[in-house]
Amino acid sequence: MNHTNNKKDQFDKNTLIKLINKYNTPLWIYDKNIIQKQIIQLQQFNRIRFAQKSCSNINILKIMKEHKIHVDAVSQGEIERALTAGFTPKEIIFTADLFDYQTLLRIIELNITVNIGSIDMLHQIGKLSPQHAIWLRVNPKFGHGHHEKTNTGGENSKHGIWNILEAIDIINKYKLKLIGIHIHIGSGVNNEYLEKVCNAMVNTIYSLKKDIQWISAGGGLPIPYRLEEKNINIKNYFNLWNIARIKIEKFLGHSIKLEIEPGRFLVAESGILVSEIRAIKTMGKKHYTLVNAGFNDLIRPTMYGSYHYISVIHKNDPNTYSNQQVETIIGGPLCESGDIFTQNSNNILTTRLLPKTKIGDYIIFHDTGAYGASMSSNYNSRPLIPEIILENGIPKLIRRRQTYQEMMQLELI
Ligand SMILES: *Cc1c(COP(=O)(O)O)cnc(C)c1O
Repeated sequence: MNHTNNKKDQFDKNTLIKLINKYNTPLWIYDKNIIQKQIIQLQQFNRIRFAQKSCSNINILKIMKEHKIHVDAVSQGEIERALTAGFTPKEIIFTADLFDYQTLLRIIELNITVNIGSIDMLHQIGKLSPQHAIWLRVNPKFGHGHHEKTNTGGENSKHGIWNILEAIDIINKYKLKLIGIHIHIGSGVNNEYLEKVCNAMVNTIYSLKKDIQWISAGGGLPIPYRLEEKNINIKNYFNLWNIARIKIEKFLGHSIKLEIEPGRFLVAESGILVSEIRAIKTMGKKHYTLVNAGFNDLIRPTMYGSYHYISVIHKNDPNTYSNQQVETIIGGPLCESGDIFTQNSNNILTTRLLPKTKIGDYIIFHDTGAYGASMSSNYNSRPLIPEIILENGIPKLIRRRQTYQEMMQLELI
């Protein structure tokens, strides 16, 4: 494996070393230019809606706002974040399969459009806020996802509405205002599957007996986590949805707008997790490299067996790599055997061939801008780590490291 000069090598090593020295490890680093490059690719859609659960730092949300992107919120916390970042309630859609009661009241107070995922939600909002603006999230009765846990359709998914005609009856009863139909298909798209989803959208609308103005293709646009994977062909993706849109326009007799709702696609490639090697050991025939970041920081490998490209920076010689290589398992500091970054979706340990390292060298986890910081926790009482963004190479701290005091602050002594 050639470790140098590949497409994952986007961050300037000298800048990284400076940031490491200033903020200590572990830390998240994002590059704003990469986010902007991704945004530009989606300009053909009538509207981009950022699925903020993928990376919810207020400063990331502000970048989206700067680019006229709207935002998806899946909890009251995400609504409050979006408002803090400067979004108006009109630019927020709340997507869920249930309402917390307090959240429902807040949504009504702000008059936030809701993307409805269950029949019970329709009754609950209809009773308190007749004529409220809604979308319906359709369960297309088949599913797909990069892992069982990310499957978003079919009877093994909890998401969306199964019986659309039942939903329409309730919409009519409360005079709810139906804006559009939404299908979120889960990550991992191939052509055949995508056509199936587009057809499901068209057929849903043929059966609706109700007018709409918008359709949403949801999120799920993949990114190339592995070196050998290709970028998704956005033109082709747009074309398939556009064909569906044209069919729907013909049927309804007026123009229809097309929204897309990515999380991962916009932010995954913009982010890295930087950790420091603190122990190197051999157990029987296996070589372990242990770093100071754990699944409390980056949970995707443990939760889904997700693959992240991993690279090395030698502390004393950041711009070259050791000639010697080693097949190594990479793990973190947590008191939990699943705290391993190199495992497959059956939780079997795998190895990476990496340049030979020393204690104090750095391990970089790539493509962690999505579902990285936003999924991290305080497990093992480890504080949340800093987030830094580079804007044309200039670093800005967008979240400082949590203190131990802050971590215990909610607990009553
Ligand atoms: C998570 C989610 C998305 C984003 O999914 P990605 O795979 O990150 O693009 C979009 N829409 C909804 C409703 C979601 O729950």
